[in-house]
Amino acid sequence: QILNPINRTKVTQDLSENVILTTVDDLYNWARLSSLWPMLYGTACCFIEFAALIGSRFDFDRFGLVPRSSPRQADLIITAGTITMKMGPALVRLYEQMPDPKYVIAMGACTITGGMFSSDSTTAVRGVDKLIPVDVYIPGCPPRPEAIFDAIIKLRKKVATDSIQVRPEQTHRYYSTTHKMK
Ligand code: SF4
Repeated sequence: QILNPINRTKVTQDLSENVILTTVDDLYNWARLSSLWPMLYGTACCFIEFAALIGSRFDFDRFGLVPRSSPRQADLIITAGTITMKMGPALVRLYEQMPDPKYVIAMGACTITGGMFSSDSTTAVRGVDKLIPVDVYIPGCPPRPEAIFDAIIKLRKKVATDSIQVRPEQTHRYYSTTHKMK
């Protein structure tokens, strides 16, 4: 198809912008999804299954996952276990201290809904997504290590479609340490 000079210029300009940005996105996302560093955050029995991942049997490192103890060095938090009201502000503080872009995997019934504490407990948070935004949920009590891998693979697919032009919405969407929990 023959384009007039004005359209040709526009197409060339659009194409060059898109090709470059798409390539940068691919490279950037490949680097990030190949080196997700999860912060260790276990509050109850679910963490036992997460800890099993770190051993040689499941070979956790093959995904480039390196557990960190500092939120400043992590871009992923896997909440493994019950979240209590008292712990809520500390969890949000940790999340806020993680550099962007960052991701959350909610592991187990307790962290997703309050689990067995959801009906009569006055201290359990009924869903960690009331505090911080969750990217992937892993149902179960407890979920097996294979289910955690499945969640990580789903998260990697999500990271692969991110664009550096569209930054994820930052924190404070759900809860802020400066506000009281309702
Ligand atoms: Fe423990 Fe089950 Fe709750 Fe996980 S979901 S923290 S295994 S009670």
